Amino acid sequence: MNDEKKPGRATRLSHGGRAGKAKHGFVNPPLHRGSTVLYPDMATRLSLMNTTLQQTLTYGLQGSETHWALENLLCEIEGATHCQLLGSGLAAITTPLLAFLSAGDHLLMPDSVYGPARSFADGIAARLGITTSYYDPQITAAGLDALIIPETRVLFLESPGSHTFEMQDVPALCAAAHARGLITMMDNTWGFGHFAPFAHGIDISIQALTKYAVGHSDVVIGAALVADERFWPALRGTALDLGQYASPDDCWLTLRGLRTLAVRQARQMQSALTVAQWLTTQPHVARVFFPALPGDPGHAIWARDYTGAASLFGVAFAPHITRQHSLDLADRLDLFAIGASWGGYESLILPTTGYIKRRVTAAPRAAQVRLHIGLEDPADLIDDLTRGFAACFPSAPPATP
Ligand SMILES: *Cc1c(COP(=O)(O)O)cnc(C)c1O
Repeated sequence: MNDEKKPGRATRLSHGGRAGKAKHGFVNPPLHRGSTVLYPDMATRLSLMNTTLQQTLTYGLQGSETHWALENLLCEIEGATHCQLLGSGLAAITTPLLAFLSAGDHLLMPDSVYGPARSFADGIAARLGITTSYYDPQITAAGLDALIIPETRVLFLESPGSHTFEMQDVPALCAAAHARGLITMMDNTWGFGHFAPFAHGIDISIQALTKYAVGHSDVVIGAALVADERFWPALRGTALDLGQYASPDDCWLTLRGLRTLAVRQARQMQSALTVAQWLTTQPHVARVFFPALPGDPGHAIWARDYTGAASLFGVAFAPHITRQHSLDLADRLDLFAIGASWGGYESLILPTTGYIKRRVTAAPRAAQVRLHIGLEDPADLIDDLTRGFAACFPSAPPATP
């Protein structure tokens, strides 16, 4: 064992993916754009044939120094050995699924999975002869074991779930899956930097870097990471076969975003807790879906497995608030803009009533919105919500004693 203390997360975000002190040059890696790579002679070219599994300069699609700097830092953050950059977070979901599933295979998906991933499973994957079963994200290991059939090859996880924010017991579910020979994949976007996927039994970690990594709402990009050599050739090979690529400009901006990840996340988590706590005291609010809040059904698992939380949560309104009231609220707010995505510097509101699809668990029935808390002063955000509630919502029925 190496008893040298591992540097902290903020230190690693500052120093990861850099050239090191020995190199004379700018602190940031160069932005290399390119397709053709020139070789001085055939011996050099031949020596670089069949090196697609390594970081070598052979052709634009295979990546360059700009890509490697980002890949290396992402490996640091997630505890991975290899990182495949992809054109979007969604491509980071579909590429590993295509890498490890074939016709006749069976996939287990949480019922709370990111909507477009469900669309891929029910569409392209089904057309290719891959069947999918949805499971309750809060299933126990024994419950999961009962759903595994001889054809089951992949257990997909997403914790907390999209819109309903159920926490999954990742170590227990992965242990059950591995006992039956399954590969485990997790969309770890919400837990980026807060949850160590490979230490909890995940084989392939999926990141929508579009969110906090980029952090400024100006790039769409994704990554799939592994910590075990066994999974790298299929993942890398499939990404290349599909022609998957992330532009160097986008990689460069993502790397720049990552340098401030720790401070942005710490501030946004605190602000999210402040706004969420306030919401729980409001008579218009039935429930806040946020595992970082004490009292949330997922809080114990979150506290056990996570070092922090994303500033993204759901709000279910009380029965006297209708869907139309929630749409009026979105229109009326000044600081919360209407928009999808999250992880940027700006606060967002997304009314979700009626849009949350569930197959084996109950879809929420109350009027509901998703809030993303940005870098604004939380007191201003609470003022904005207070004014919006007063303008759009009918007065709450008196509390029953
Ligand atoms: C946004 C998101 C994605 C997809 O990322 P894109 O870059 O927008 O394709 C995947 N999973 C989760 C949980 C997300 O929030």
